[in-house]
Amino acid sequence: MNKSVLAIAIGLVPHMALADYNSIDNYQGKPATDHTIEANKAFAKHLPWEDKTAFERTNRGLVAELEGDATSVRTRFPHYSEMNLDELPNSVNPSLYRQGMLNYAANGLYEVTEGVWQVRGADITNMTIYRSDNGYIIHDPLLTESAGRAAWEFAKKHLPKVNGEHKITGVIYSHSHQDHFGGSRGVIDESFDGLIIAPDKFMESIAAEAMVGGNAMSRRSQYQYGTTLPTTTKGIVDNALGLAPSQGDVTLVPHNKEINEREEWVNVDGLEILFINMPDAEAPSEHVHWIPKYKALHTAELTYDGQHNIYTFRGAKTRDALIWSKYLHELKLRFASEAAVLHQAHSAPVWNDGNGEIAEYLTLQRDNYGFLHNQTMRLANQGVTVNDIGREIEKI
Ligand SMILES: [Zn+2]
Repeated sequence: MNKSVLAIAIGLVPHMALADYNSIDNYQGKPATDHTIEANKAFAKHLPWEDKTAFERTNRGLVAELEGDATSVRTRFPHYSEMNLDELPNSVNPSLYRQGMLNYAANGLYEVTEGVWQVRGADITNMTIYRSDNGYIIHDPLLTESAGRAAWEFAKKHLPKVNGEHKITGVIYSHSHQDHFGGSRGVIDESFDGLIIAPDKFMESIAAEAMVGGNAMSRRSQYQYGTTLPTTTKGIVDNALGLAPSQGDVTLVPHNKEINEREEWVNVDGLEILFINMPDAEAPSEHVHWIPKYKALHTAELTYDGQHNIYTFRGAKTRDALIWSKYLHELKLRFASEAAVLHQAHSAPVWNDGNGEIAEYLTLQRDNYGFLHNQTMRLANQGVTVNDIGREIEKI
């Protein structure tokens, strides 16, 4: 197999900006204006603060907390240790603030279900780990080589050895965004002889989205993410998907098994996995998978505790909200009642505890994107201008 590594220039891969978060040493930010304070207060009244379900899900199954800060993501957000939901900073949208608290709470190795673990909080992305016959399969090795290596080294301290070692028996890339493959060199070394599995058109999609328009997107992403702002309540608060991306080298060990059929069963070191391609929603190349042995559905990045951009300011390809909602409807029909757990590439898992939790989660996620599509088209057909559609949707 080809074990060569493609070193990717950060500037050409703009999926996520990687600037130095502390580059403006003396930046203090401006205090919130009266208008902002009023708007944030009004917004806070509509949020269900008493619902702590997402925090309970985030803390569930903790095996061990991350030691120190191997990937230095959390230490960039010292203010979170003092933050609490009863004292909202008036410069931050309350929902974003809550999301930041939620992401800061994810910090360690978690048992998702028997045979399935996740490292969360070591990067913007979750690393998922499956037990296979002779070791462990890694799903999404994070964004950077150093973060991927640190997360796996940390996990090994708490996972039982198999045949006297912690062998990596397979690697899965969920989709063509770099926070899901960039840490590949940190977990795949020269001795690796297993499958590296990727969705249909994986390499083409990385090249098309991140390189052809890469320079423009990289520049625009600086504005979208405000990457040179400091991490304060008047600067960067959170990245929604996670606190922030790790910093370091983004690598890509090429895959050696591509899922080209619409869906395909693959035996990865004794573990039967059903891969289902669901392209052109969150990413141009993406697959989800179902593992009957663990009754575990991995939805890749089609779901997380939030709502994705359909059109990103940085200029990534526009996502198809209609097909996205249809994918989530399909997953609900096929797996919601059978699955014991739905886990994802960002945010905590959702467990079926007897109240249809997974069906409800998929319904809400599905309707996010269906609503955006349906109302946008309804208003467009009524002659509402593009500039006014957003305002009209907010009123609904
Ligand atoms: Zn991602």
